Amino acid sequence: MYRKTPLEAWIAAKIGVQQERLTLDILEQYQLQKIRQTLRWVKDNSLFYRQQLYGIEPEDITDFKQFSKLPFTFPRDLQANPHGLVCTSLSEISRIVTLQSSGTTGQPKRIFFTRSDQELTVDFFDYGMRNLVEPQDRVMILLPWQRPGSVGDLLQIGLKRLGAYPIPYGLVTNAKDAIEQALLNGATAMVGVPTQVLTMARHGDGAKLRGKIKSVLLTTDYVPAAICRAVTQAWQAKVFNHYGMTEMGLGGGVQCQALAGYHVREADLYFEIVDPQTGRVLPPGETGEVVFTTLTRTGMPLIRYRTGDLSRFLEKPCPCGTILRSLDLIKYRISERIKIGDELLGLPDLDEKIFCFEGVLNYHAACREAGKKRELYIEILTAEGYKLPEEAVKDSLLTLPVIKTYYPQSLRINLKQTQQAAKFYLGSSKRKILQV
Ligand SMILES: [Zn+2]
Repeated sequence: MYRKTPLEAWIAAKIGVQQERLTLDILEQYQLQKIRQTLRWVKDNSLFYRQQLYGIEPEDITDFKQFSKLPFTFPRDLQANPHGLVCTSLSEISRIVTLQSSGTTGQPKRIFFTRSDQELTVDFFDYGMRNLVEPQDRVMILLPWQRPGSVGDLLQIGLKRLGAYPIPYGLVTNAKDAIEQALLNGATAMVGVPTQVLTMARHGDGAKLRGKIKSVLLTTDYVPAAICRAVTQAWQAKVFNHYGMTEMGLGGGVQCQALAGYHVREADLYFEIVDPQTGRVLPPGETGEVVFTTLTRTGMPLIRYRTGDLSRFLEKPCPCGTILRSLDLIKYRISERIKIGDELLGLPDLDEKIFCFEGVLNYHAACREAGKKRELYIEILTAEGYKLPEEAVKDSLLTLPVIKTYYPQSLRINLKQTQQAAKFYLGSSKRKILQV
């Protein structure tokens, strides 16, 4: 038996009912009420939503079907005029996060938080982390933490609240140093970016952490399953996935001990899955784009925000026994798939075929014109002293139907091995696949 996710008791308390009495119906009534309050708040206070929701009376939204008729908010809206979405005076804003867009549109997204918005995140980190750490744990934070209000800073506060001991470190640019610090500080758990934790696990000194690190939280938009397996194996640790983005207030959902889907912050966020083309809400079990609405934020609430991530609600209840829904692990970002012929290839497809090789730490991929053919160019960062078995990697890639269909007639594969780590750590930690 798995321990039930601590998020259930937390959500019940936030709603104001005893945990034993929490039902999906009670949760949904609460969410609808919070949706009406948020709609009223944004209509009264934000220029953007005053226009966007013109003619809509928040008090008339009494079920999710009516709610599903409201217009979406898109990332481009956060680029075009972020101030138009802010609902409080700027003096109440305690943190503004600027996200550089990965596309060519240039303009960054800006997301605004008040102190109470940030408190919601700390509270989620406090209870979310209870899925994997206990009060006596020493948790290494492999995320930016220096700035007040940064993800690592808020996580540090949340961990202290649950009684754990945070060890703020930062992003891993030198695996050897990170391992030394983990040993020196007696770390028993860590939170980090998948490829960066992988470089520690696959480093020559990585084995020193075996048996010492008992749980790891990997956080980003999606976590390659091959990396989870590699880290689990290297350290005999339990590896959890976290799903979140800045727009959600950093945290979104986290796996429980059953390591099935994520349980999400249902008292703070209302999630829908929609058809990416038509925008129609899809039933549980069907895969579509993740859309969320903030229920408790005041600085810059978001209504039906399109995340660009693909997932679905799992139909089966979680083995941990909670009444909460489970969101399947995110696999793709819609925009981050490239076309080869008529088929789509995404980074996650490549991840499973490349990270399974022992010495692989990271890679870049691009698909480009090469004479009359297309060329899939993959530059692979490997651990020191490791010789990439190129033919075996090629064979592994050829098990992907999209590659097999076009190789070798119209597609070439060009693999390059490198040990220059520096170029893999510049800029944001999000990886992408390029179409050039
Ligand atoms: Zn569960």
